[in-house]
Amino acid sequence: MDAKIIDGREFAAAVRGKVKDHVTRLASEHGIVPGLAVVLVGEDPASQVYVRSKGKATVEAGMKSVEHRLAADTSERELLALVDQLNNDSSIHGILVQLPLPEHLKEDLVVNAIDPAKDVDGFHISNVGLLGTGRKSMVPCTPLGCLMMLRDHHESLSGLEAVIIGRSNIVGRPMAQLLIGDSCTVTVAHSRTRDLPEVVRRADVVVAAVGRPEMVQGNWVKPGATVIDVGINRVDAPERGEGKTRLVGDVDFERALQVAGAITPVPGGVGPMTIACLLANTLTACCRSNGVPEPDGLTV
Ligand code: NAD
Repeated sequence: MDAKIIDGREFAAAVRGKVKDHVTRLASEHGIVPGLAVVLVGEDPASQVYVRSKGKATVEAGMKSVEHRLAADTSERELLALVDQLNNDSSIHGILVQLPLPEHLKEDLVVNAIDPAKDVDGFHISNVGLLGTGRKSMVPCTPLGCLMMLRDHHESLSGLEAVIIGRSNIVGRPMAQLLIGDSCTVTVAHSRTRDLPEVVRRADVVVAAVGRPEMVQGNWVKPGATVIDVGINRVDAPERGEGKTRLVGDVDFERALQVAGAITPVPGGVGPMTIACLLANTLTACCRSNGVPEPDGLTV
């Protein structure tokens, strides 16, 4: 029997709906409107698309959206001054500096200049430390979305063997912390891991965050395992016509589908959850800064 396909679009729509309901209540009961500021430096086409869709989703959720588009040659001092201004703006509860930044700007310096309470990407070193020590923090959006889907599918994650492939600061490492927090037995595999297929075969939960098209083979997957595919890879698709491409994940979806218990597709799996979790994080940051209760199920 084929695995259950975890529909990330449907799940993300439900998260966004929940955020919107809570935003409406915040406005009517407390007169508060959550605000998200997104800062884009330069003209990277992919970043422009991301920033546009983040702004649109923010407005759709009933929140205030502010976009700052700065020239590619913006100096570090100018960028830090803007971050400082946003840190001190009480109508802004979330600040996101779109990465990557142009080469002359130090990402670490800029990210760590954001007020940790407004760090809706969860990349500030204070939030990394809080998450790593099992305390309340702002949680990076992509792993948060993966965790929400895993919690929804499993009654309990406690005691499950989880294998995360990839050790990036954006996905792999925070994912490991979140799954430790839910009492999984966690293995983080990476480019130097020996015999990756054997490591993956023991996993009840696999999270693939590598960036290599269809690297995880169907016969690596333990029967009945839950597979979360974070990878987004564009590959040639000559079957669709000359010069055409398509998106695939890090997992061989068609084969893994026949073995796994549940699996996220690409596209339409983890991707839509990332923006939904950005909205959830903005709402969480707003509730915390105003001392009002946080909605259930939108953070850890
Ligand atoms: P990254 O390049 O920072 O990290 C990749 C990781 O994979 C590294 O830790 C590396 O050790 C590991 N790796 C590389 N080759 C390997 C191999 N042969 N075997 C085992 N491990 C190997 O990437 P990232 O930022 O973590 O992103 C990973 C993928 O997830 C990319 O495809 C990216 O586009 C995608 N992504 C998707 C979303 C989303 O919203 N769905 C968000 C972030 C990243």
